[in-house]
Amino acid sequence: MGKLHNVIVGASAAGLAAVEAIRRVDKDCPITIVSKEPLPLYSRVGLTHFISREVGYDGMRMRDDGYFDRMRVRGLMGVAAVAVDPVAHRVRLSNGESLAYDNLLVASGSHAVIPPIPGTDLRGVYPCITNVNATQIDAAIPSAKEAVVIGAGLIGIQVVDAFARRGLKTTVIEQMPHVMPAMADPVSAAMAEETLRSAGVTVRCGVRASELLGKNGQIVGVRVESGEVLPYQLLVMAAGVAPNIDFLDETGVTIHRGVLVDAYQRTSVDGIYAAGDVAETVDMFSGERVVNAIWPEALNQGRIAGLNMAGVATAYEGSMAMNVTTVIGTPIASIGLWNPKVGEGHQIREVRDDRRPTYRKLVFDGEQLVGAMLVGDFEDAGILHNMIRTRITFTLTPDHLAPATIRWGTVLRAIGKAGRV
Ligand SMILES: Cc1cc2nc3c(=O)[nH]c(=O)nc-3n(C[C@H](O)[C@H](O)[C@H](O)COP(=O)(O)OP(=O)(O)OC[C@H]3O[C@@H](n4cnc5c(N)ncnc54)[C@H](O)[C@@H]3O)c2cc1C
Repeated sequence: MGKLHNVIVGASAAGLAAVEAIRRVDKDCPITIVSKEPLPLYSRVGLTHFISREVGYDGMRMRDDGYFDRMRVRGLMGVAAVAVDPVAHRVRLSNGESLAYDNLLVASGSHAVIPPIPGTDLRGVYPCITNVNATQIDAAIPSAKEAVVIGAGLIGIQVVDAFARRGLKTTVIEQMPHVMPAMADPVSAAMAEETLRSAGVTVRCGVRASELLGKNGQIVGVRVESGEVLPYQLLVMAAGVAPNIDFLDETGVTIHRGVLVDAYQRTSVDGIYAAGDVAETVDMFSGERVVNAIWPEALNQGRIAGLNMAGVATAYEGSMAMNVTTVIGTPIASIGLWNPKVGEGHQIREVRDDRRPTYRKLVFDGEQLVGAMLVGDFEDAGILHNMIRTRITFTLTPDHLAPATIRWGTVLRAIGKAGRV
């Protein structure tokens, strides 16, 4: 019997992590990767660094153009998967081809949610999801006097940060009471808002855009729900993302907020796996089902899917929140169970200095560190992340960890005491 044919839809974090995991185990099984986007292989995390001019166009690349040849992968770039027949084990492609698969990985990521308000088709209105969007936004900056970003989540805040670095007068509109509602608590969000305001950014929370106004097909302003009209010539829509699942219609694959997978990244349909922004996994702390649309999760899930597709049964320990960004030079991170529900018995230890600003909130379940919210002082974010993910704090108690940044030396001494080395 010949080797199994692995077909992967999507050539980004999850898809390429799967390729690399398969190749570690099996050097020559046939792999085909299908990507709606043409070369180059780029990272979405780099888009706002390109817009800010911190990196050039090539700075967004995550692999060179020879990657597929080296990995012995057939790369069908600029080709979309349009339908899947799970009985015949075939994927229909936009180029007319029908591709047979033994294992199919859905690593198709997510797209920007465009709110159902008038005017979203005007010139000067862009999502910020692809390298094409980034070049469009970059090109629109010189002729814009003022820009607005709708949505102050991770993507929106990074766009605001890039605009501020380019010296563009910018407003951010967020319908929730504070910025970064899914990755910051009110204390750290207030610090971020203060940092943004001191850099000249206008922050408007608890406000919803109701209409985008145009002149000759070009955006000229936004009407908000109070009726107020604000003038802008460039708008970035960052109101959330949703999974790319249209080609899975009629497959019987179970979909809730994302494609439901088990610990082996298997969907409800035999031979079909899913990983990354498109997949709904289980949060390792709460046990709740989540779509955790972040880069490290896409890498982890892609790797697990690839190993299982290659026949190495590997279970995923569950997904973990890990949001890190920089707001006008101030780093902010939320890791693990950073915002526990009241009444679940967690111990919260906080140290805060509004002037610098710095904030260190650690969440413990008994002696076990389970979450961290950090603003400003970041040196031990990696150490804390490790302790949270592995659920090992060695002999370090909340009293060791909570007051200030800890160093690797402290950790190594604690490992020694715990008899682990
Ligand atoms: C501007 C921006 C900044 C970000 N910053 C951060 C950050 O700082 N930290 C962080 O952790 N995360 C960040 N993210 C999120 C991170 O980029 C995503 O979590 C990650 O890219 C998900 O990887 P993925 O492989 O699951 O999907 P994606 O990267 O979305 O890739 C999916 C690929 O599949 C393709 N595709 C879709 N449908 C089809 C189809 N039918 N046929 C063929 N191909 C298809 C898509 O075109 C795309 O190329 C950011 C995202 C954006 C947009």
